[in-house]
Amino acid sequence: LRGVVALDGPSGTGKTTVARTLATRLNSGYLDTGSMYRIITLAVLRAGVDPADAVAVAALVDRVRIGVGTTPDRPSALLEGEDVGREIRLADVTAAVSAVSSVPRVREVLVAEQRRVIADVIADVGGIVVEGRDIGTVVAPDAELKVYLTASAEIRAARRSAQDSAAGREVTVAAARASVDRRDRLDSTRSTSPLRAAGDAVEVDTSDLSIDQVIVALSELASR
Ligand code: C5P
Repeated sequence: LRGVVALDGPSGTGKTTVARTLATRLNSGYLDTGSMYRIITLAVLRAGVDPADAVAVAALVDRVRIGVGTTPDRPSALLEGEDVGREIRLADVTAAVSAVSSVPRVREVLVAEQRRVIADVIADVGGIVVEGRDIGTVVAPDAELKVYLTASAEIRAARRSAQDSAAGREVTVAAARASVDRRDRLDSTRSTSPLRAAGDAVEVDTSDLSIDQVIVALSELASR
C-alpha cells in the first residue's frame, strides 16, 4: 500500500479487526485514533477532572504525554510512558470518551499528532491504515482510499457484547446496545467533526458479512 486507507464508522462495525488485518496484509502501518481519545480520557479520569468540564479537559490535554504504536499485530497505548492498553478499554473510559472527544482543543491536539504519526509511517513503510470517526473527513481528506463501515444497531451491540466477554468483561447484549447507541448518538451530533461518511467514501454494510468477506472486499479496493 502507498498512502493512507481511511477507515471510519460507528462502534461495533468490525473496524478494528478489519483495519489491523488489512494493514498486516498490505505490509503497512496501522493507527487506531480511537485509542488516542481513550488515553486522554483515562488521563482525565485519573486526574479527577470532570469529563464534562470542557475548560479543565482542554487544559489537561496540553499537559499529558501520550504514545501509540503503529505495528498492526501489537499496537500499544502509552500514557506518560505507562502501557495502558488494557485500561483504556474499560467501561468507565468508554462511558466518558465521547464527552472528552467533543472538546475542540482535544481534537486539535490529537489531529495534529495523528497527522504527524501518519507522515512518519508513510516515510518509513509507505502506507498506513487509519481507523476512527473523522479520518476521511478531517485527518486525511486526501486518503488514497476511504471506507465507511456500517452495520445494524442489533449487530453492532451483539459484536460489542461478544468482544467484551472475550476480554473477560460480561456485558449483556441489552447493556451493550445502550452503550453503543449512546456513544454513536454523541459522536454523530457533536459540533466539531461529527461522525459521518466522507462524500467520496465507499460505504460497506458489514451486517451480513464475515470479517473475512469485508477484508477481501477492502483488499480489492486498496489494490485498484
Ligand atoms: O474507536 P473507539 O471506540 O475506540 O473510539 C472511542 C471514541 O473516541 C469514540 O466513541 C469517539 O468519541 C472518539 N473518536 C473520535 N474520533 C476518532 C476516533 C475516535 O472522536 N477519529
